[in-house]
Amino acid sequence: MSPVVELLRPLVISGPSGVGKSTLLQRLFADYPDKFGFSVSHTTRAPRPGEEDGKQYYFVTRDRFTELLAGGAFIEHAEFSGNFYGTSFMTVREVSQAGRRCILDIEAQGVRQIKSTNLNPVYLFISPPSLTALRSRLRARGTESEASVAKRLATALKEIEYAKEGAHEYVIVNDDLDRTYDLFRRVALGEEIVSDSLPPLDD
Ligand code: ADP
Ligand code: 5GP
Repeated sequence: MSPVVELLRPLVISGPSGVGKSTLLQRLFADYPDKFGFSVSHTTRAPRPGEEDGKQYYFVTRDRFTELLAGGAFIEHAEFSGNFYGTSFMTVREVSQAGRRCILDIEAQGVRQIKSTNLNPVYLFISPPSLTALRSRLRARGTESEASVAKRLATALKEIEYAKEGAHEYVIVNDDLDRTYDLFRRVALGEEIVSDSLPPLDD
């Protein structure tokens, strides 16, 4: 498929919490301020230091989330680590109408749901080089309690299982950040890349 056609398709990026998705996205949006639009999800989790409402997420109460869900606002939604997350039809429509490639950062339950819609995105999985590296990144980020780190690591195994089923068109192992970013940037720009092999992730 030519890069032009490919660019019309949204890009879904997923991978375990702490693998580096937000880091890659921040760099992409800084390098290409006009090309991409982030699908800002709704979430019931509390904002982390530095996060702004309407930028990383729309931060809402559980009641508001439930109300939006009942009103059919979401293309997909999931409960992750004790909080709700959802992609609204509105946010994807806004990005597409602005003529930008829409990028969604969602977990595996959401990916499964998107697969039964007509969104037809490209699916990219970011893998950690090892579970040990993932654990230390989650801790080093300093945003999660030990209990939250443990929950996120347990969920990581499900994300990895899903990737092992071959659910994603592309896989990139985020070991060296510059190398990962270069591959990620190319996928975002509509180039075809050769995927990395998934590491064993049994450590
Ligand atoms: P995610 O959005 O997938 O949850 P983040 O982007 O918040 O993950 O990254 C988690 C932590 O790992 C951050 O502190 C980030 O700086 C760090 N990190 C990201 N990529 C790498 C890498 N290749 N090597 C080492 N640390 C990394
Ligand atoms: P975090 O709390 O670290 O920002 O995100 C936790 C997980 O929720 C990540 O795996 C992220 O990809 C996922 N996520 C963020 N927004 C959505 C969403 O709208 N839907 C789904 N299904 N997952 C989301």
